[in-house]
Amino acid sequence: MERGILFVFSGPSGTGKGTVLEEVFKTVKNLHYSVSATTRAPRNGEVHGVNYYFIDDAEFDRMIASGEMLEYVEKFTNRYGTPKKAVEKLLSEGNDVILEIETIGAENVRRQMPECVSIFIAPPSLKELWHRLTGRNTDDENIEKLRFETSKVELMCAYNYDYIVINDTVAHCAEQVLGIIEAERCKVSRNRKVIENILYN
Ligand code: 5GP
Repeated sequence: MERGILFVFSGPSGTGKGTVLEEVFKTVKNLHYSVSATTRAPRNGEVHGVNYYFIDDAEFDRMIASGEMLEYVEKFTNRYGTPKKAVEKLLSEGNDVILEIETIGAENVRRQMPECVSIFIAPPSLKELWHRLTGRNTDDENIEKLRFETSKVELMCAYNYDYIVINDTVAHCAEQVLGIIEAERCKVSRNRKVIENILYN
């Protein structure tokens, strides 16, 4: 069986990448969201096992020590990590997987799995990003400022990605991401068996 494609999806906080991904998941079949582990507290409406696995520091340490994290990072005083086993299982069974992770984690994944496909979602401008960050009212002012400064640094990392998509409108951005996913799935290098089936069956 052909191994699934690992998509790595990043974008500064406030870019709206979560909303874009929701749109993408409505359309694409056989695409799985990798649920990360985090030590941060759940926000309103977030569900354990759906948005994140909300775990404490001790459990996070244990997962690192036992090699259960594909990558992890400390951000905004909390830690985030990708549980390796679930991702590996899905890929080996031919399913495509999306990791929604920040830029340092993405760099670590690229190093371990250079065949992954990385997509960077960028805001149309810094002004618009600030507007979106302060508009969602989920964090206090200091955290918002910290997120904005971090976002600027993250934008510099866009050069290392395979694709960049501007989130001007959710519909347009999602359409472009869908185009990338479809194009990657159609690559000859991933479809050698399909060609053989046509030729010899
Ligand atoms: P939030 O707290 O807003 O849910 O996420 C903060 C940042 O952490 C986002 O940029 C998000 O993509 C990133 N993030 C979420 N899960 C992971 C993970 O497993 N690994 C890494 N490296 N970053 C993550």
